[in-house]
Amino acid sequence: MDPIDGSKPLCFYLLGAGGMGMAPFARYISDQGHRVYGWDDFISEERKQRLSFIHWQNTIPPHCDLCVCSSAIDPKHPLRMAAQRVCPVYLRGMLIAKLLHSQRLCVVSGSHGKSTTVAYLIHFFHRSHLPLNYLSGAEFQSDAYAVGCGKYKDAWTVLELDESDGTIEAFSPAVSVILNTDWDHPRHYPTKESYQKMFAALAVRTQECVISKEVFQPSPMKQLAIPAAKTLLEENISAASAAFHYLTGKTVTANDVQSFPGVKRRQEVLLQTQRFKVVSDYAHHPSELQALWQYLGVGKNNVSVVFEPHRASRLKCFLHEFVRALKRCSQVYVHPLYEAFEAADCNEKSLLAALPNGRPFGQLNVSDWVSQEQPCTLAFVGAGKIDAYARRWVEQWIHAVVSFFSSRGLAVKTHVSLQNVSMMGIGGSALFAYEPKEVRDLQKVLKGCLQVGLEVYVLGKGSNVLIPETRWDGMVIFLRQPFWTQCEFLREEEVEKIEKNDNDAIDTFETEGIGDPQFGLPRYVRVGAGMLLPAFLDRMEAEGVGGFSLLEGIPGTLGGALVMNAGMGTNGICDCVQQVTWMDREGNLHEVSRKNLQYGYRSCETLRDGIVLSAVLRGRNATTDRVQQERMEVREKREHTQPKGKSLGCFFKNPETCSAGKCIEESGLKGARVGDALISPQHANFLMNMGAARFADVVQLVQQVRSTVHEKTGIWLEPEVRVLGRSWEDIL
Ligand SMILES: Cc1cc2nc3c(=O)[nH]c(=O)nc-3n(C[C@H](O)[C@H](O)[C@H](O)COP(=O)(O)OP(=O)(O)OC[C@H]3O[C@@H](n4cnc5c(N)ncnc54)[C@H](O)[C@@H]3O)c2cc1C
Repeated sequence: MDPIDGSKPLCFYLLGAGGMGMAPFARYISDQGHRVYGWDDFISEERKQRLSFIHWQNTIPPHCDLCVCSSAIDPKHPLRMAAQRVCPVYLRGMLIAKLLHSQRLCVVSGSHGKSTTVAYLIHFFHRSHLPLNYLSGAEFQSDAYAVGCGKYKDAWTVLELDESDGTIEAFSPAVSVILNTDWDHPRHYPTKESYQKMFAALAVRTQECVISKEVFQPSPMKQLAIPAAKTLLEENISAASAAFHYLTGKTVTANDVQSFPGVKRRQEVLLQTQRFKVVSDYAHHPSELQALWQYLGVGKNNVSVVFEPHRASRLKCFLHEFVRALKRCSQVYVHPLYEAFEAADCNEKSLLAALPNGRPFGQLNVSDWVSQEQPCTLAFVGAGKIDAYARRWVEQWIHAVVSFFSSRGLAVKTHVSLQNVSMMGIGGSALFAYEPKEVRDLQKVLKGCLQVGLEVYVLGKGSNVLIPETRWDGMVIFLRQPFWTQCEFLREEEVEKIEKNDNDAIDTFETEGIGDPQFGLPRYVRVGAGMLLPAFLDRMEAEGVGGFSLLEGIPGTLGGALVMNAGMGTNGICDCVQQVTWMDREGNLHEVSRKNLQYGYRSCETLRDGIVLSAVLRGRNATTDRVQQERMEVREKREHTQPKGKSLGCFFKNPETCSAGKCIEESGLKGARVGDALISPQHANFLMNMGAARFADVVQLVQQVRSTVHEKTGIWLEPEVRVLGRSWEDIL
């Protein structure tokens, strides 16, 4: 009797279970309640752990009902032969066809772009909270979704349908998306016509609808056209959107497309500094290379490639097309051929011989790529082992950069988590981070960053910075060492000098009403950029110096406060400044006096691109009791109006005519929520992380607030909060 009659849970043994063909299938059957055992000769411990729903063992389990082999398993593999003695053995494709024949099945097929299209479809279903069973063809970046899902009864099942081994012929789905029919797999389909015939036959077997830009003969039951697009990626998105609409009746939005988390090995950016980008891509056919070049801007940009040819039969059949595509890159490092169990009568040497810009792979030296004068991209391309190599290469590059800095006496850290650095409690990591000990040290690290092409970002207390969950490939600077948190009153002669040079500033100080006029004479204090404002205020209170109550309750550092001109209402800390010492990105020191400091509401133009080192602030003589009382009043007011918890304070700047909080409240948005991101019911300009909010949740809530407030009031609110490595213009 056929064990696959759906009546009882089965015991499966999967051979080659770690590959991208098998892992989604394993997840699918595991979700359906079957027991899944498996083995893979080439799997890492880390991947085994990620696929922990498979019981890994290199023996056939007792009571095994079925063995399933990936097409990469040799027919003489000892485990395959052992399985044949105790149970039926299937090729993966054949078994999937059998298992899914009674399901509402939508397949995505074609020569290029299947995995990306399937991934977009999965993402669109998730965004719409609609159930979907699926077997994807690639892993999502940052593990956004599982590789497979078989949890839902009566839902659509979406499957990436592989045509390479002929098992496609066993499928008669309800819906087929046929992306393109560029001849490939010449070993199995010896002519272009035989390849195209195979897709035409699938179209005929399709029971409800074919979605394709090709026209098939004989005509399928029903055909929908994929709207034309400029690039392969756009074409994949169009195909996924058309399929989503057909399967659900719903339309995909721009937000659905923008929020796509990306798939591994598909234009996947493994490293992105200011001048150097490393990309991994699965392209292994000349048309895919050309599509990738379009994405990378080959011809316009400096792009070099590390190419691993995949299968001798493909290389031999399309050698001229490969050469034509690869010749367009600056340099090509040719990796040894990935044989994929074929006899290799054509290999990388044939390609190298024909490529004027070709070099053997062994010449790819990581130290040659540490510092770049001009922007350049290095793409690791192929369907074999090249991706794993690319990831190792990036780690080697990171070590080479660390050595570059350590040879200059700078102990730079790598992969530093930023989640707890932002007071929002959201954040990925910084590729590099450094805590300079003093000014000279900071200068050295800035110069090094210029040479390597690393962007620099100074983080204070993180009380006004939203941090994406991805890795940021720059250098984060923390001014935490004791040098940066000093606080000292100016000596008499320094005060005299200041007062001599700055009579008008004193007059302005008198007339602006900063602090309480009952306070006495000015007191000047030099404060390091890394000093926390609450600590500074405590110190001033102890010394009986007033005039800083506008900073009460602001959790940031002095540096962050100056850059943001933090304060209360329209007053900000820049009003209390006498002088600021700052450094530009080249490491040059600058001093700016109060007279020349340009600042406005929650911003300081002069310091926009600078790094604040210290500032002289001016307070006034008072008594500790008086200062304490003033601070208490502000604190009490805050406690009544502001919520406690993870936030970045007021999220939006006040528009000229009203308060942002009032606009949001009057637009009915108090309590609005996306995931764990919430508009505080207490103060509508506070966007809270209630536990596990994600960067994308916050962005979605910000979009919702902006569009609703605009609809109701005609005002576009501008975020006050900054985003590490990105601008709001790009995000919104
Ligand atoms: C509960 C709460 C209440 C708040 N209340 C107020 C308030 O009443 N008024 C107000 O104005 N703000 C308020 N904020 C926002 C925030 O505290 C201020 O903007 C603060 O000054 C930011 O300082 P930071 O050290 O945390 O800077 P970060 O958040 O770390 O950085 C903010 C910006 O400053 C830059 N930066 C930091 N240090 C330096 C440096 N040394 N040199 C150059 N650039 C630097 C960063 O690169 C970033 O662009 C509040 C925040 C919270 C969480």
